[in-house]
Amino acid sequence: MGRLDEIQGRRVTPGEEICVIEEFLPGMGTFDRNGVVRAAMTGVTQVDMLSRVVFVKPSVNPPRMPEKGDVVYGIVQVVKDEFAIVKIAGDYHGRRYPTCFTGLLHISQSTDKYVKNLYEVVRVGDILKAKVLNNYPPYNLTIKEHRLGVVLAFCGKCGNRMVRSGSDTLRCDSCGNVEKRKVSSDYGQLRVLQL
Ligand SMILES: [Zn+2]
Repeated sequence: MGRLDEIQGRRVTPGEEICVIEEFLPGMGTFDRNGVVRAAMTGVTQVDMLSRVVFVKPSVNPPRMPEKGDVVYGIVQVVKDEFAIVKIAGDYHGRRYPTCFTGLLHISQSTDKYVKNLYEVVRVGDILKAKVLNNYPPYNLTIKEHRLGVVLAFCGKCGNRMVRSGSDTLRCDSCGNVEKRKVSSDYGQLRVLQL
């Protein structure tokens, strides 16, 4: 394999060495440091033999996925005594992910207050604002922070949209039903999101 084949058509990540400037000059998507041409972005190297310039063609954006520390929106699908399964649908800005991801909420990550079981925290159909704790699915979630928790819930008796009536309670204006939740400080302020 010739030197050109080593330089051209290579997948590179930022900072990776491509060649020296005596071989090719730094073009788009590259930079030169002490005579060494390095990639400035993720992509594939290409060489223009005429101008003797090497450049990096950026790779098509990899699919967006939740990452550790991200705040996401999800809908509660299953609730057990100690954990809930959440369908993560969109990010903090209300943008949907290309596919839905599975999130797990353990009771230890739900609230600092004493609760008998997770049914006092979330229920099926609730929309949660949660923070992601790891980088790969299934994503572990936390809703402990003040701003995290249930942002929208529907009455278990009549299905009406509930309103906040206390720090841990929601009330249905239609039938008077009161239910417990870990309510987000942003309750009711759901960004536009199609779940
Ligand atoms: Zn109701």
